[in-house]
Amino acid sequence: MDAARRAESAVRRLRWPVAWLAGAAVALFLAAFPGCVTHRGQSTLDLPDAHHVRLAKLIIHSDVPVQEDSPLVRDLAALRVDILSTLGLPECRRPVVIYLFENEPRYAAYMRTNFPRLPPRRAFFIGTPSELAVYAFRGDQMLIDLRHEYTHGVLHASLKGLPLWLDEALAEFFEPPREANHVNLEHLERLAAAIEGGWQPDLARLEQLSDVSEMQALDYHEAWAWAYTLLNRNRTQQRPLLISYIHSHRDGANSKPFSQKLGLPADEANRLVLKQIARLQRRMNGPHERRSAEADDSESDPDAAASIRLPDDEEDDEVDAFE
Ligand SMILES: [Zn+2]
Repeated sequence: MDAARRAESAVRRLRWPVAWLAGAAVALFLAAFPGCVTHRGQSTLDLPDAHHVRLAKLIIHSDVPVQEDSPLVRDLAALRVDILSTLGLPECRRPVVIYLFENEPRYAAYMRTNFPRLPPRRAFFIGTPSELAVYAFRGDQMLIDLRHEYTHGVLHASLKGLPLWLDEALAEFFEPPREANHVNLEHLERLAAAIEGGWQPDLARLEQLSDVSEMQALDYHEAWAWAYTLLNRNRTQQRPLLISYIHSHRDGANSKPFSQKLGLPADEANRLVLKQIARLQRRMNGPHERRSAEADDSESDPDAAASIRLPDDEEDDEVDAFE
C-alpha cells in the first residue's frame, strides 16, 4: 500500500462509528435505529440554505452553489437508480435531503450544537419521522461519504427494520465510485490480511450485532464481503434469496436472520465469501491489476470479460457480474 492509500485508509476509518462511540449514552441513543440515527426537535438554525437542488427524490441544500447537472448531482441520481434496480425496489416514497456544509469546521460546529451526543464523524445519515437527512461537508472524501450515507437514505425510504449488518453491507457495497463496480480495495486488503491471520467470516455472528457501537472495522469489511458475494449475478442461488429477504422489510415485518434463509450450512456459506475474496485478490494482484471495474461487467462488454480470464481451473468462477 502506498502512502496515499495509507492516508486514505486512515481517514476512511474515522467514518466508522466504532472509532468514536465513547459512551453508553451514545450507544443507547443509537440502539433503536441500527445504521442510522433518529433525532427529534433539532434546531434548523445554521443549516445550509443558500443554494437548493431538487431532482426526483433527491433534495440538496448547500452552502455553496450546486447545479442540477453537476457531476455530484448526476452521480447521486445515478446511484439511486443503481440501488433501486440492483435490489428491485420501487421508487422511493420519501425524498432524501442532503445538507451540504461548505467546510468541516462549520459542519462540525453544527453537529456539535444540534446533535451533542453524536460522536464526530465526517458524515451522518439521520432519519426522523419527518425527514431522511444526510449531513456532510465539502472535502476530499465528500463523494464517497455522500454515496455511503445517501445509500442509507434510499434504503430507509423504502424499507423498515433492515438489520444493522445488512444496512451497512449495502451502504458499503454502493459506496465505491461507480467505475469501481462495488469493489472496495481497503475492505479487500484488510480481509485478505485477516484471513492470513486465521480469521473466518461468520454471518450468524454479524447478525447478532444490533448497535453500531458494537461494529468493529472488521465487521464493516465483512459486511461488504457478504453483500459483494451474495449480490453477484452469477451466484444465482444466493442473489434472489438476499433480494427477497431485503424486500421482506418493505412492510417492516420482522424476518428471521438471513443466515437461516440462505439454505446453506455455515461452512459452505463462509466458503463462498472466502472464494470471492481470493478471486478478487488474484484479480487485483494479477496482470490486469485494478481492472476489476471494467472487467466485472461481462454481459455488457464481452471484450472486458475476456480480459480477466485467468489460467486456472476455476475460470467460470472468475467472472463476476453486477448490475
Ligand atoms: Zn453506514
